[in-house]
Formats: sequence, structure tokens, C-alpha cells
Amino acid sequence: MTVYTVKNVASSAFLVTDGKGAMIVDTGVAGRAPAMLRQIADAGLRPADVRLILLTHHHADHSGSALELREATGAPVAIHRDDADQLRRGGRVDLRPTSLVPRLMKVMLAKAEIPAIEPDIILGDEEDLTRHGGIGRSFVTPGHTPGSTCVLLPDNSILAGDALSGGMMRARIARKPMFATDPDAAARSMRVIAGHAPVTVYVGHGGHLTASSVGALQCP
Ligand SMILES: [Zn+2]
Ligand SMILES: [Zn+2]
Repeated sequence: MTVYTVKNVASSAFLVTDGKGAMIVDTGVAGRAPAMLRQIADAGLRPADVRLILLTHHHADHSGSALELREATGAPVAIHRDDADQLRRGGRVDLRPTSLVPRLMKVMLAKAEIPAIEPDIILGDEEDLTRHGGIGRSFVTPGHTPGSTCVLLPDNSILAGDALSGGMMRARIARKPMFATDPDAAARSMRVIAGHAPVTVYVGHGGHLTASSVGALQCP
């Protein structure tokens, strides 16, 4: 199994392959579909090998290129039920910063619009993603958004979206999400992620996080 990171300044998107098929986890901001399609080709795959596009949450820096990638691959778009309505509506959301740096970033991020997307698959709190053509399992980690969801891969690595953040300066040190609709829930979710003792945690901003910094979140 391989996890490819398709990175730009705004956020990371991921391509996961297991030799049989492939899954996209998050799609980046608008206009990032060509970069993901290049990565698919570089991995020796065709767009049609992608069987699932999972959005860890509805934010525009993760859902921005989902429509183009659904069109290009034919794969269904999945999101947790508690983030599905916002994805259907699209538009801007209110970001609630958890500290100073995100307060500054909000000025930049708040302009991005979520594309209105009708999801094909509504995820529950825990899902066997192989049932939907994907790889691994999903589990809900609310707090950053109500339906923020992580993917636990068979090698015990986790794709965490924005449920954890890597920070700007020390990108591999795990810290709390930059924004949270529910900070208490976000803190609980951080401990759930740490409780899996993941070998690697891939996040939307910064990363990948060191296992030891993630482990330290269990007893803050
Ligand atoms: Zn986010
Ligand atoms: Zn993000």
C-alpha cells in the first residue's frame, strides 16, 4: 500500500493505492484536479482505477476539486452525514479560529467557496471503506467540523484531514486543529486518533506528523 501526497501551499490531497485499486482522500482547493491526475498517472494508474473519493470534511480547501475529480474518474464522492448538508449547499462557512495564527489565516481561507456537491455516499460514524470501493476504515472525529472523519489504513496509518494540524513552522509536530466548531469535541477526537497509536498521521496542513508527537496528545 502506498500513500501519495499531492501538496500545494493551501492544503494536501492524498492518493492511496493498494495494488488493486485506488482511493482519493481530499481533493485540495479548486483547480487542483490536474495535479492529482498527474499523480495518478505517475503511480502507473488510470483515472478509472480510482474507486472512491472520500472528503474528510466539507471545507473548500478539501472539497474544492471534488467535482472535477468525480468527473475525471467516475468515482463516487463520500462524506460523513454531519457534513453532507453543507457540501450540498456549498458556499462559505464561518471558521472559528482556535488561536492567533489561524485567526490571521482566516482572512485568506474565508474567501474560498465550497462547491455545491451532491454526495454519492453518506458515511456513518464508522465504515468499512472496502464496502464502498475504498481502502481501510473510516471513523468520525468531530470538532473541526461536525462530521470530520479520519481514515485508518491497513498499515495503521491515519489520514486525519484537519482533525489534527501540523503547523507552519514545525510541520511534523501534532497540534490541535486550527479551527473548531466544537473545541471540546475536537480535543476528544485528538485523543481518539492518538489512541490508535498510528505509525504515521497524514494531515491537510503540514505533516506528516511524527508518531511520538501524536502519542503525546493522549496526555496533554
Ligand atoms: Zn478544514
Ligand atoms: Zn483544511
